[in-house]
Amino acid sequence: MSDLYIRVIPVDPQWQPTAEAAGRTAEYVAGLFAGPGDHVESIKPVFYDHITLIDAGQYMEDVFCPRCDTAIGLDWFWDLLREEDGGLTVDPTIGDLDVRVPCCGCPLMLPELRFEAPVGFARFEVSIMNWTRHAWELSDEELTTAGGILGHPVTQIHTRY
Ligand SMILES: [Zn+2]
Repeated sequence: MSDLYIRVIPVDPQWQPTAEAAGRTAEYVAGLFAGPGDHVESIKPVFYDHITLIDAGQYMEDVFCPRCDTAIGLDWFWDLLREEDGGLTVDPTIGDLDVRVPCCGCPLMLPELRFEAPVGFARFEVSIMNWTRHAWELSDEELTTAGGILGHPVTQIHTRY
């Protein structure tokens, strides 16, 4: 059986919360999955030393250039990442996440790349694993509240392994 995750991350890839805010955000998110009949396997806040790919697992099929719409292929993308820190971190030589795409040679930022299923780049996440809530994702209001508790706006990435 595959594992499903919702991964809540700050919208700024560099940004990290305090441990206290991280803990309170995890508690808030846990509360969203604590209704009658709800169950969740784990909810945890994770800090990364370096900017890390918040990947979509099996949902990742290809990566596209936002400028010329070419399918670039994930092999090019994987080469920009290093296994470290319990995840795939962006190669430190890619300073501010700027890369040059192989298709049309345009310079752009990694988060601008277009994926069939959204991915993120972050140094912090709260991940929810194998939940059974009727809703498939956090609502806009829940994301706004979570961002308020964390101290920075957040977004969510869906992952299947
Ligand atoms: Zn291109």
